[in-house]
Amino acid sequence: MKPSSEKPKSCRRRMAPEHLFRFDCSPGVSCFTQCCQDVTIVLTPYDLLRLKNRLGMGSDDFLERHTLVIPREKRVIPMVVLKMNETDKKCPFVTETGCAIYEDRPWACRMFPLNTEGDGTFELVSNAERCKGLEQETEWKIEEWLKEQGIVPFEEMNELLSTITIPMQIHEGEIENPQIAKMVFMCLYNTDKFREFVFKSSFLDRFEVEEPERIDLIRTDDLELLKFAMDWIKFGVFGEKLFWVKETARGTK
Ligand code: SF4
Ligand code: SF4
Repeated sequence: MKPSSEKPKSCRRRMAPEHLFRFDCSPGVSCFTQCCQDVTIVLTPYDLLRLKNRLGMGSDDFLERHTLVIPREKRVIPMVVLKMNETDKKCPFVTETGCAIYEDRPWACRMFPLNTEGDGTFELVSNAERCKGLEQETEWKIEEWLKEQGIVPFEEMNELLSTITIPMQIHEGEIENPQIAKMVFMCLYNTDKFREFVFKSSFLDRFEVEEPERIDLIRTDDLELLKFAMDWIKFGVFGEKLFWVKETARGTK
């Protein structure tokens, strides 16, 4: 759960997916739920989608109530983190019996006590002194444990997100118009608003998409909508030919 860092990066041992480690986090361990407090959990766009749908909230409401949006110097995409309770600094979803939204918990919570740099290797980001789960008998192969955590769709969406974040770093210095940053944020983190933008503006009169059936899908399917929104960033910011201006819209604004 808690992506804490207790050793300098260079000292941490990298492990392959076949590596075995001992871990069991369950109500029996003395530290149970302690790592769901006073912790920085960075939310990916997919995390946010899963959470707001789990809670039956709109994107605006979820962003307002459960996140802190932290601007990053010279970066178009801000950091979005899960807001802890003001009083006790606990995660708003932790209960005595564990995580109340367990099936939809964010990527960082699924990964803990492991982390990856996205290079196929893993490292422990806690130790048995703090995370008693690491001294339990249950032994896991990392790759099997990750599957058990339901990490696959999160990893797929992280990979897709990297097709935005990596080229964005190259373009970052050129993007001065704050409207572009606002659009990028809406695409990634405010899918409800992006849906309104597609269906309640002149968007569909002006643009054609390669697979028009996607338009029907994104009316109701939030995941498809997020993927569509990522394509819109690739078109609008990186100039990828994923949309075309309709003949009838040429010359109009
Ligand atoms: S979302 Fe769940 S697992 Fe993650 S910190 Fe909150 S209670 Fe813990
Ligand atoms: S065993 Fe580790 S992951 Fe589980 S609650 Fe304790 S510190 Fe958190």
